[in-house]
Amino acid sequence: MRNQELYIGLVRLHVLHHAAQEPIFGLAIIQELGRHGYRLGPGTIYPLLHAMEKRGWLRARQLLVEGRRRRVYTATASGRRVLKIARQQVRQLYDEMFEDNAG
Ligand SMILES: [Zn+2]
Repeated sequence: MRNQELYIGLVRLHVLHHAAQEPIFGLAIIQELGRHGYRLGPGTIYPLLHAMEKRGWLRARQLLVEGRRRRVYTATASGRRVLKIARQQVRQLYDEMFEDNAG
């Protein structure tokens, strides 16, 4: 991903947002982010999910899907807490970035 340093926080927020709504897994989140124009491969997403798990924002569990093990992630209480704060930050930033175009 070009300019990854800039966008990686947005990607994490995106992941957290979806994990707060439903269980997510690597491949689906790669496709979902691709829909939003983020070109991310497993080599980026899996370590990112793992790092977010270690940070205490996501909880992982193994599911058996059609005979295959799949590692799914959901947001923890702590993840939901930071998401709530981040949502306000995003709104502030959004308002500031787009206020000139508001009218
Ligand atoms: Zn999305």
